[in-house]
Amino acid sequence: MSIINYPIIFLGAGPGDPELITLKGRRLLDEADVIVYAGSLVNPALLDGVKAQVHDSAGMDLDAIMEIMVSAGQSGKRVVRLHTGDPAIYGAIREQMQRLDLEKIQYEVVPGVSSALASAAALKVELTVPEVTQTVIFTRQAGRTPVPEKESLQNLAALQTSMCIFLSVSMIEKVVAELIAGGYPADTPVAVVEKASWPDQRIVRATLVDIEEKIQASEIRKTAMILVGRALADDDTAVSKLYDAGFSHEYREEK
Ligand code: SAH
Repeated sequence: MSIINYPIIFLGAGPGDPELITLKGRRLLDEADVIVYAGSLVNPALLDGVKAQVHDSAGMDLDAIMEIMVSAGQSGKRVVRLHTGDPAIYGAIREQMQRLDLEKIQYEVVPGVSSALASAAALKVELTVPEVTQTVIFTRQAGRTPVPEKESLQNLAALQTSMCIFLSVSMIEKVVAELIAGGYPADTPVAVVEKASWPDQRIVRATLVDIEEKIQASEIRKTAMILVGRALADDDTAVSKLYDAGFSHEYREEK
């Protein structure tokens, strides 16, 4: 009997709410024989009722993860590597894909809702407000993982865009210092969303002046997104031209 080999699937689990996975992702989880997931961030509720053998990668190194995925894949099993949010953002999938390339093993990537976007939804903000900013930066504070100097928070702050800062809430003091040193006015709105879309989601709103104090008091230390920028202010009168009666576009004539 010949073995059918399925591509290994790198799957975005979404930010936490089990309904925020794609239909395709849900189907692939249900069909999987082996699921390797990042237990520290993926909501285990996503795995309720799956028939697959499930492995938590939290305590594993890359070799151990690859060994499970490759041997299962080569014996004809359907393998899903489940990553939090979207796998393209701080997912560490590159090193896994490079190993699979070396071994000439097929794989596919299925996107998910990044926690950055789930956090914006929790805050009910538009990150791209006309005449305020039209750019969103996904970044992090340098920590044990270094960040190239030219894209330090201080350098990026000069642009005064909307920013979604991952992996950094435990370094909030440093984040604030760099953002102010780089050029955001001290009254720039900041919000921290902890566990966006989970039942125990928490939101802390502040400005660059008082966010640090509020975060220390809240004891939020991980699984949180820092959003910063003028777009978060609710006092802006800028309105998108798309729905402005005096603005014609492809689908509508100017009045
Ligand atoms: N690939 C993921 C990010 C992985 S890095 C994504 O697209 O969302 C892990 C960081 O993501 C955490 O330190 C935190 O900053 C953020 N994060 C993950 N899940 C989150 C959630 N539900 N709410 C807020 N931030 C979250």
